[in-house]
Amino acid sequence: MRKTNHKPAPLGIRHGDTVKVMAGRSKGKTGKVLSVDPAKRRLTVEHANIIKRHTRPNPSKNIKGGILEKEGPLHISNVMLICPGCGKHTRAGHTTLPDGTKVRICRRCNTTFEH
Ligand SMILES: [Zn+2]
Repeated sequence: MRKTNHKPAPLGIRHGDTVKVMAGRSKGKTGKVLSVDPAKRRLTVEHANIIKRHTRPNPSKNIKGGILEKEGPLHISNVMLICPGCGKHTRAGHTTLPDGTKVRICRRCNTTFEH
């Protein structure tokens, strides 16, 4: 078990991982992680938490007006990793391979997450 300390816990979720949204408007959706902001502990997940931006046309910049849909940030605590091995949402554990590489593993089935 991790000891409690004042260091921020590692996010355990990286760009390209598949996650499930556990709370909020997009609850139950799964998608790939598009970006991660470790400082704010936020990430964006494809097709989740879609926000609509109304943009004004700007002919000099060749921008068409209208509604732009894009993924909004979700807090890291509202998503869980989906394991590529067992397909269930899980927490990532960490292990070190014989060659010294640190990898994340599924705590349910021990599949490594690295891709
Ligand atoms: Zn698993």
